[in-house]
Amino acid sequence: MTQCPTVPIIVLTDLDGTLLDHHDYSTTAATEALTLLKRHQIPVIFNTSKTQPEVLQLRRTLANTSPYVCENGGAIYYSTGDTDSEPEWLCELPGASYSDILHVLHDLRKDGFNFRGFNDMTDTEVAAITGLSTDDAHFARQRAATEPLLWRGGDNSESGDSSIEHFRQALNAHGLRLLKGGRFYHVMGDADKASAVDFFRHHYTQRWLLDTPPIVIALGDGENDKAMLEASDYPVVIPGESGTLELNNTNTITADFKGPKGWNSAILSLLEKLLKETCSG
Ligand SMILES: [Mg+2]
Repeated sequence: MTQCPTVPIIVLTDLDGTLLDHHDYSTTAATEALTLLKRHQIPVIFNTSKTQPEVLQLRRTLANTSPYVCENGGAIYYSTGDTDSEPEWLCELPGASYSDILHVLHDLRKDGFNFRGFNDMTDTEVAAITGLSTDDAHFARQRAATEPLLWRGGDNSESGDSSIEHFRQALNAHGLRLLKGGRFYHVMGDADKASAVDFFRHHYTQRWLLDTPPIVIALGDGENDKAMLEASDYPVVIPGESGTLELNNTNTITADFKGPKGWNSAILSLLEKLLKETCSG
């Protein structure tokens, strides 16, 4: 396998519950596959709901120099140069910028909508709500393209529901979306994790001077990964904590294990197949 030339493949991956173990956040079980990808110089692009400082920490730990995507596709970070020289890092915001979002939220608050966002909270407050340490809460508050918020505009009675609907419509009128997460509502522009698939197909076609786009492998375990997986050439579904995603794509591979162990075995067998096909083709 090592005698084969490097083939144009890129990997986009979710982190929590996919490359990172759901319980201890370890990537150890995926070491063999990560090492093989590095040997073939295949980029491993993190595509996550985490913020930039959170992702940078993990990239340092794993010595990962690839581009990365934060805040559910809201912020794409990439470089133009080679990794050997000092690359210039750029940020693309396919949806809306954080300052634009805060500006709209400021106006909507004046209109009477009642909510409390990360920008209104201290690190200590975010830590208390999320269970993160104060340092990690500080990282989680460094945002580029999405704002998590607690809705305070009413209870779950009819009037409460209609007021969140009203809020959603007001955001839509400004080109923003409201997504319901586990703990928070998330305000963001018109981007999702699939935005990065198209972006990097184009980016690497140009950068590697290809006639056709590179092969995209994507791995994920959650509902917010579905669009990314469906936009890829080889979607790898990692079994999730609350069920396994079903996709309409004949190339779909469902990993045999959860988390990094499943990531490892799925990547190893897929790479073996793709490298063999390329070498014999
Ligand atoms: Mg996940």
